[in-house]
Amino acid sequence: MNIHEYQAKALLKSFGAPVAEGVAIFSADEAEAAAKSLPGPLYVVKSQIHAGGRGKGKFKELGADAKGGVRLAKTIEEAVSHSKEMLGNTLVTKQTGDAGKQVNRLYIEDGADIDRELYLSILVDRAVGQVSFVVSTEGGMDIETVAHDTPEKIINVAIDPVAGVTAENLDALTSALKLEGEAKADGERLFPILYKAFVEKDMSLLEVNPLIVMTNGRLRVLDAKMSFDGNALFRHEDVVALRDKTEEDAKEIEASKYDLAYVALDGNIGCMVNGAGLAMATMDIIKLYGAEPANFLDVGGGATKEKVTAAFKIITADPAVKGILVNIFGGIMKCDVIAEGVIAAVKDVGLTVPLVVRLEGTNVDLGKKIINESGLNVISADDLDDAAQKIVAAVKGA
Ligand code: GDP
Ligand code: MG
Repeated sequence: MNIHEYQAKALLKSFGAPVAEGVAIFSADEAEAAAKSLPGPLYVVKSQIHAGGRGKGKFKELGADAKGGVRLAKTIEEAVSHSKEMLGNTLVTKQTGDAGKQVNRLYIEDGADIDRELYLSILVDRAVGQVSFVVSTEGGMDIETVAHDTPEKIINVAIDPVAGVTAENLDALTSALKLEGEAKADGERLFPILYKAFVEKDMSLLEVNPLIVMTNGRLRVLDAKMSFDGNALFRHEDVVALRDKTEEDAKEIEASKYDLAYVALDGNIGCMVNGAGLAMATMDIIKLYGAEPANFLDVGGGATKEKVTAAFKIITADPAVKGILVNIFGGIMKCDVIAEGVIAAVKDVGLTVPLVVRLEGTNVDLGKKIINESGLNVISADDLDDAAQKIVAAVKGA
């Protein structure tokens, strides 16, 4: 789960990190009061969407010469006019895709005078099995470009989970970022705070790009992106309260209502599978036979008929889906329940694309019988290879 920049900054502030004063607004009427409550003379008006690259982004409704999604203002009037121009319009950035995202919230912030823009993130580093800091002196810009062109400018510092952030780690971080004097002391205070926030809140990513050294020599968190581990959200009600569903994929929200593990992907073969491992294998084998999955979907071990029906509806609601592969191993789950769910769903929403069903396990004969006697145009398959080849052929033939 992701949250907005202003929410992430409030969270970091509660841990003691240095962030600017700011006010989030939902309508342009609030802009003047928000700006007036800040010290000035520089204001920053920032689009709040769950995507980065806002500064260099473009609004669809405004001309190519219009400013981006993060704008500086030297007066309250200018902050207000930027707010009016941005709110309600669609911002397209490198991370939003061509459709862009509608800006429904703005964050008006006290502007900083910047000396240097640095990069810092904290993530779960699978290669070392630890939480790592990733830092670079080349902040503010696209970190992927830095990683590609000048990988030596990106430094990883892994943190021992028992020792936490050690003096040695702090030396490595401050020297990698070339911090000196007060900025160095600020860094030595800030890095353990960020690490603590990351661990306590079960984040999967905390990215501060840029972390800035201001002209007064002090450090400030200028941008903040936070992602949380969905499996740990049950113990963070405060974080769940920050969820903005308008930023999420509608299909994924629907799936979460039914406790289905669903992730939308770019391909055209919809998959309904039970068990994450089998779902991964199913996606792999679809790719092996030359097609791409439209989604990851694990209906879980104890799925009911209602759950299967909901899953089927979510898959068919995706206009990109040109074929569906149902691949179920009935262990705890019974094949006849799956069969009934699939048929109920097909009768409910109709079936306009080829459907391949591969069932195996508990009550498999009953399951196959139900499908065969349903009168529906279902292609049945005996094993994983057979199923993948059949759905790929059906989609390519169509
Ligand atoms: P992003 O484009 O979505 O990553 O948004 P950021 O919050 O990182 O802002 C983009 C850029 O705007 C930063 O890299 C800065 O160069 C600039 N910017 C943001 N806030 C301020 C500020 O307070 N003062 C100044 N001078 N520039 C700022
Ligand atoms: Mg940024």
